[in-house]
Amino acid sequence: MQYKTELLTSSEEDIKKAAEIISGGGIVGMPTETVYGLAADAENAEAVAEIFKAKGRPQDNPLIVHIGDIADFEKYAKNVPETAYKLAEKFCPGPLTMVLPKRDRIPDVTSAGLDTVGIRMPSHKAALALIRTSGKAVAAPSANLSGSPSPTSAAHVMNDMNGKIPAVIDGGDCPVGVESTVIAFEDGKIRLLRPGFVSAEELSEFAEVIIDRHITEAAESGERVLSPGMKYKHYSPKANVTIIEGNGTDYIKFVNSHSGEGVYAMPFDSDESYCEIPCIPYGDSSEEQAARLFAALRKFDELGAKQVYARCPLKNGVGLAVYNRLLRAAGFEIISV
Ligand code: AMP
Ligand code: MG
Repeated sequence: MQYKTELLTSSEEDIKKAAEIISGGGIVGMPTETVYGLAADAENAEAVAEIFKAKGRPQDNPLIVHIGDIADFEKYAKNVPETAYKLAEKFCPGPLTMVLPKRDRIPDVTSAGLDTVGIRMPSHKAALALIRTSGKAVAAPSANLSGSPSPTSAAHVMNDMNGKIPAVIDGGDCPVGVESTVIAFEDGKIRLLRPGFVSAEELSEFAEVIIDRHITEAAESGERVLSPGMKYKHYSPKANVTIIEGNGTDYIKFVNSHSGEGVYAMPFDSDESYCEIPCIPYGDSSEEQAARLFAALRKFDELGAKQVYARCPLKNGVGLAVYNRLLRAAGFEIISV
């Protein structure tokens, strides 16, 4: 179906309009603190199937269910462990998704056939207002075409989804900029399935944290991956992206000796003045890099970049999330200098 996609604000009136689209089985582009999502009623299998279609998302990649109240964890999940409640007290609402045994009311299409469901309560005001006004839990993957960088502004969503969905709420730029931290529970331990703004270091105050191997390693073909999203090439602009690992001096030496048509650098802000090739810097701190990574990757498409040399971020704290996304954007191509 072809839509004239309407750009809404987060006014009470517009939220009401968006909530009616959701309760009527439609899809709305929704701002959250992490990235923009494509939201539909999580219990409406047909509406959720439309999300997969709009994104071109593989059917075996489950959606996260977004709730408007901590008490709703119990409504969609069962056997919730004590650690989950403690984490919810500290991090909900916020960018933490917990994978839990699902209740039957979550249809198979939402959980991609798994008997678990990822649930989170977003902290973004417009997202919470939309969820609460619609009276639904909403399934919401990132609002990009499958494979592309996640959208961190309403303009990014329009770029990918114009004509494919009825409406997008413009809630400004997403403050976190990378998708939520995803965790599962295993014999009293926490397994980190996808790094995000809530870091492994913070989680380890609650239980031992196992960092899933697929956060930093490519899956072999046919290998079972606990977090299905981790097996796809992802977050990627059209250009070939290569991660350059080394200190600032060696990075600059490398990029300055690799100039060419369509070749760009993606340095830290502090490297920019030394770059002799065109560049889009993406911040200095891990938090800045998380907030600006996807916008920078999208910008390379606008510029028609063919090759991007990105300086490798730190790998601890929020940096692990930035590194994990960049690795996928680069198809795991790293050069050490
Ligand atoms: P996105 O909606 O694009 O942020 O992607 C959501 C990601 O969360 C998926 O690609 C999975 O990797 C992860 N996820 C969601 N639900 C589950 C689940 N039940 N089990 C494991 N991982 C999940
Ligand atoms: Mg996504």
